[in-house]
Amino acid sequence: MSENQKATEAYHLMQYKCDTCGKLSLIWNSRDSVTPFCCSCACGGVRNHINWGSDVRMDPEYVPWPGYCDVFIDLSPERAKELAMEYDDKVRKLTESFVNDCCSVDIISSEEYGKLCGSGS
Ligand SMILES: [Zn+2]
Repeated sequence: MSENQKATEAYHLMQYKCDTCGKLSLIWNSRDSVTPFCCSCACGGVRNHINWGSDVRMDPEYVPWPGYCDVFIDLSPERAKELAMEYDDKVRKLTESFVNDCCSVDIISSEEYGKLCGSGS
């Protein structure tokens, strides 16, 4: 990715639209970096970056008033840990549902199958 592309979304106020609830929202990118094409919505849906041509470059020191928009910021180590724990929890629940429902198929080699069946050598 070139430096020009990298700078495109830096310090821009951008429009996002939710695929599920249709809500439009503004997100301020407070970082000197690119932003995700999509991100989560409060409804549980996914918001996509729309009207790219209408992105507005703001002063890097810009601070939106409370409730005006969401803000992309650098992820802090504390928040990263928090998200990782939420992710772990989702993975654990997904794993449990696979095990408990017992309806998922997996594929293994006959060699592995032999070991599973205890046929040894
Ligand atoms: Zn939504």
